[in-house]
Amino acid sequence: EGIISVRGMDFMYGAKQALFGVNMEIPANQVTAFIGPSGCGKSTLLRCFNRINDRIPGAHIGKGKVIIKGKNIYDADVDTTQLRRQVGMVFQKYNPFPKSIYENVVYGLRIAGEKRKKVLDEACERALREAALWDETKDRLKTNAFGMSGGQMQRLCIARAVAVKPDILLMDEPCSALDPIATLKVEELIVALRKEYTVVIVTHNMQQARRVADLTAFMYLGQLIEFADTTTIFSNP
Ligand code: ADP
Ligand code: ADP
Repeated sequence: EGIISVRGMDFMYGAKQALFGVNMEIPANQVTAFIGPSGCGKSTLLRCFNRINDRIPGAHIGKGKVIIKGKNIYDADVDTTQLRRQVGMVFQKYNPFPKSIYENVVYGLRIAGEKRKKVLDEACERALREAALWDETKDRLKTNAFGMSGGQMQRLCIARAVAVKPDILLMDEPCSALDPIATLKVEELIVALRKEYTVVIVTHNMQQARRVADLTAFMYLGQLIEFADTTTIFSNP
């Protein structure tokens, strides 16, 4: 049984069905990649894990469940704010706030009401270290995040996500806005992050799945076609 269990799940955008009877067990402390052609439902499935799709009018789960650490996150009593703290997310288009590097990293802790400077400082350093960004930023924490390169901004968004110590980190095409060098750096980081977090990544890039993922899920037309060790997925004829 995985840290995330998807059981017979359908997902709808109004009358349009985007996912059909998805079943999967995603293990903890591994990198799992979702691959498949554009429109097959990769982002939709990823976004079910923190219910961020709930914000789209008409979007709703049909049949089935998503169980995270033993709890169906689509139960009526689930606090989605709490859920999104437990399940962090990083987007394709990195989106730092027009504030200092420091304030970007500690944002989630401030939202959660943390005011102690020592706690914020320590969390900031830990998160930046986990995002392989500390050496590059430690002397400029008070400078505006918009002065960073694209690759640095994406790693900053990863630092912001890990600052609140989530269990799970969702990444939707995290490298598709980056140049090849920055991509390699973020890929290295993704592999390192599974020591602390369960990582689930959407990618249109098969080679990227091969490079970073322990497990690969292949989707097609809203269905999960195959889900296995990455080596198994890519050795099939
Ligand atoms: P992928 O991530 O594999 O490209 P998506 O999960 O984005 O696929 O999309 C799956 C299907 O759901 C597609 O047919 C897409 O057009 C549809 N879809 C995605 N978002 C919405 C939305 N907000 N409203 C209606 N349909 C959507
Ligand atoms: P990405 O691949 O980065 O998710 P898309 O172009 O697939 O980008 O989608 C961009 C936005 O449009 C997303 O918020 C998605 O949910 C929405 N979207 C995608 N397909 C549809 C659709 N058929 N109808 C309405 N909204 C859609």
